[in-house]
Amino acid sequence: MSHLSVAKFGGTSVANHAAMTACAKIIIADPNTRVVVLSASAGVTNLLVALANGVEAEERRKLVGEVRSIQENILNELKDDSCVRPIIEKYIENIEYLSEAASLATSAALTDELISHGEMMSTQIFIEILREQNTTATWLDVRDIVATNSHFGKAAPNDEQTQANSDRVLKPLIDRGELIITQGFIGREPSGKTTTLGRGGSDYSAALLAEVLNAKDVLIWTDVAGIYTTDPRIVPTAQRIDTMSFAEAAEMATFGAKVLHPATLLPAVRSNIPVYVGSSKAPQDGGTWVTRDPQPRPTFRAIALRRDQTLLTLSSLSMLHAQGFLANVFSILAKHKISVDTITTSEISVALTLDKTGSTSSGTELLSGELLEALREYCTVKVDTGLALVALIGNDLHIAAGVAKRIFDTLEPYSVRMISYGASTNNICMLVQSEYADEVVRSLHKSLFE
Ligand code: ASP
Ligand code: MG
Repeated sequence: MSHLSVAKFGGTSVANHAAMTACAKIIIADPNTRVVVLSASAGVTNLLVALANGVEAEERRKLVGEVRSIQENILNELKDDSCVRPIIEKYIENIEYLSEAASLATSAALTDELISHGEMMSTQIFIEILREQNTTATWLDVRDIVATNSHFGKAAPNDEQTQANSDRVLKPLIDRGELIITQGFIGREPSGKTTTLGRGGSDYSAALLAEVLNAKDVLIWTDVAGIYTTDPRIVPTAQRIDTMSFAEAAEMATFGAKVLHPATLLPAVRSNIPVYVGSSKAPQDGGTWVTRDPQPRPTFRAIALRRDQTLLTLSSLSMLHAQGFLANVFSILAKHKISVDTITTSEISVALTLDKTGSTSSGTELLSGELLEALREYCTVKVDTGLALVALIGNDLHIAAGVAKRIFDTLEPYSVRMISYGASTNNICMLVQSEYADEVVRSLHKSLFE
């Protein structure tokens, strides 16, 4: 195992000159950090997604203007912008051109090409920020390393190809002692087109690069000092968790804690690479280490909340004593590339919630008309919205005595639409009405954590 760390800085960390400078200082202070993965400056990807969805000329000018002003605000504060300004101008011209194309006809490939510009710009500007701190860095086009399939908007990495690219292109640069600045979120498919890994995918990129480089760890620098027992905006007394396991963090990420992209944990778990989450604005505040087997392993670790849940209830009398109903349902869902989060079944019906983290970079709705139609051929389909999923995360929850009683006592005043308990040792999920989701989180936090 090497001493190499891969650091990733998110959108708010590279939002402006001051934020970027704070990141530069973190990098310079840690000689192990040799590979740096950046997101686009905060707000830029959203604007580019809007443009990629195709907008009229006037709106287009407005949106491009907003992208330009986010980047120019940083350029204007550079002591010397002579090298990078023309590069950014070229990217903006490209954005204008691609947005016009998108206004004529959108396509998934065009969307990915367009939205990749956010990361291209932030990384180019960051080279200059480092230069202001007397540090020379090498800009690398991550598409030369991260190879993916052609599933635009949510491409899957090709691990072997990525490893080979890394050995051929990236490793030699690092061996020469260079500090590498590169993009998160994007990759390249076999015919050379740009792909993206899905919204928030930069964490995933960082973990992938750490894996192919056999790095010591991945440092995720964001706007919060680690992972908390629950969202501090809902519960101000939430506490920072110093260490947690991959399994717990994966549950948290999947069930709504926005700190880590769920896929980040795949390479980390596979290759046992510790992941650190800390704040780039307050690195001294410490953060959370996510590792394979941290001690202790408390029964209750955290509460995650995922809003905007859709519950599908599928019923069919022919399910009675019949085989193959669930198989059919799942094959239809798989065909529509939908993954199911939680599920409960009875003799003639099955209720399930859909995993929204599966949505693509452009944010296409999961529950399409075609999907509903396909399901309705088999059964009656009821769609409930306005729900939120509260996930209690911990250890050995399925066997710990008295867990259900403590939860049900706390939930007494609320009606719970669905509960999923027992499948995972690490979580219990409850589906509740959106209106009182925050209240449920507060009550559970109070009774289990305070
Ligand atoms: N810029 C991309 C996004 O906003 C990727 C990332 O931030 O991780 O989704
Ligand atoms: Mg992000």
